[in-house]
Amino acid sequence: MSLKLFNTLSRSVQDFNPLDPAGKSVDLYCCGPTVYDFAHIGNFRTFVFADLVRRYLEFKGYAVRHVMNITDVEDKIIQRVRENKTTLREYTGKFEAAFFEDFQALSCLRPHDTPRATEYIADIIALVEKLVARGIAYRAADGSVYFSIEKYQGCGCRYGQLLKLNFDEMRPGERVSSDEYEKESVADFALWKARVPDDGEVAWPSPWGEGRPGWHVECSAMSMKILGESFDLHLGGEDLIFPHHEDEIAQSEGATGKPFVKHWVHGAHLLVEGKKMSKRLGNYYTLRDLLGKGFSGREIRHLLLTAHYRESFNFTLGGLQGARAALARLDECADKLKEIAGTTTATAEPELIQKVAAALDEDLNMSRAWGEIFEWVREKNKLLLPDNKLSPEQAAASLGAINKILALLGLEKAGAEEIPAELTALLEQRQAARKAKDFKRSDAIRDELKAKGWVIEDTPKGPKLKKL
Ligand code: AMP
Ligand code: ZN
Repeated sequence: MSLKLFNTLSRSVQDFNPLDPAGKSVDLYCCGPTVYDFAHIGNFRTFVFADLVRRYLEFKGYAVRHVMNITDVEDKIIQRVRENKTTLREYTGKFEAAFFEDFQALSCLRPHDTPRATEYIADIIALVEKLVARGIAYRAADGSVYFSIEKYQGCGCRYGQLLKLNFDEMRPGERVSSDEYEKESVADFALWKARVPDDGEVAWPSPWGEGRPGWHVECSAMSMKILGESFDLHLGGEDLIFPHHEDEIAQSEGATGKPFVKHWVHGAHLLVEGKKMSKRLGNYYTLRDLLGKGFSGREIRHLLLTAHYRESFNFTLGGLQGARAALARLDECADKLKEIAGTTTATAEPELIQKVAAALDEDLNMSRAWGEIFEWVREKNKLLLPDNKLSPEQAAASLGAINKILALLGLEKAGAEEIPAELTALLEQRQAARKAKDFKRSDAIRDELKAKGWVIEDTPKGPKLKKL
């Protein structure tokens, strides 16, 4: 079955077909974090969504090239560097490292490339030069370079592909120098910003004088440099539709004359009491805040993956408790299946996998996928309780199915990795030694296991091995 995704360009759900004539590889770009502070879990809703898109494409057999940039120079960062009397690299380095720690704690797969804007200044300048040469961008008196929407439209290109704009209300000729603005104030936007005293040391030489890039042009330059002038998928949160993504299209198509991105997919916001979780409103939690409250990365990831990606939902600590309970139900069922399967192996049963794939093919309908998963758990529990009716082979096949789904969603149970047979044998020897009251030998085995990175946990059902 084929994957359907909502495309913001056509405002409709479309079949996803990659540009690759062989239909095998997919190039995906997701706007990455602005490393001026710790990311909040609203930001991570978007990154977990991008991770799901990548994992599902890989699950369907595509060879995915996933790029996520690091915005390490823009207005907010420069302000923080100035306030903290530090250097750009030192300041952004700290938050970039924290971002990747959090990213990993949420089991997001590392993108294949994570370009930093400051390492692509030459490519950014080359792109701006191309726009100037084509007459679409112009240098202002202060040495800044602006993108001319009028000239761009004059070349037969369309500004307003992702969003309907009313040009009668626009003020042609006016300029906007900050990176963030509302659609009501649409105007020529800055590609290159001339150095001002507040920029401190943050400046690079350019044909127009010293300065720094605007935020929007960073993404056009990095994505096209790595993935080519036209690529398959561009993701981000819905707040990026305008102006960031509209401007990315204008800059890229204005420079190349080719369609920039085939599918634009935007994730809805994580809200708090009906309002977008944001730094500006102060209504946010960082991942660290929640880990500090005793929640795990896995529970937070589960919560962020509960709703359909195009539906916003309110974050609450109660919701996180709900995620904990849901995972516990899943784990309990998987543990029982594991107990019955013992060492028996079997091919994963296909039904659950097919049902979840059918839900995800329909514009990544996670809420439907969860419905299928928990219906399956209910059915299995009926077979498992109060008296088990499953054979070890059946249990192994069911376990294979749920493990495959958990791996697809990046929700594998921590420490659930297969325990090597040699270690299980050691554990059995330790039990035998204890039974024979040979405590020296049982302690020696315990130490050996520890040296291999495993601890023995005594449970009511007997000893179990757990990864250190
Ligand atoms: P930033 O670091 O501000 O550039 O944002 C990184 C990503 O987080 C972007 O794709 C934003 O669209 C996304 N984002 C920001 N706030 C939220 C939110 N409350 N819910 C979901 N995504 C968000
Ligand atoms: Zn971007």
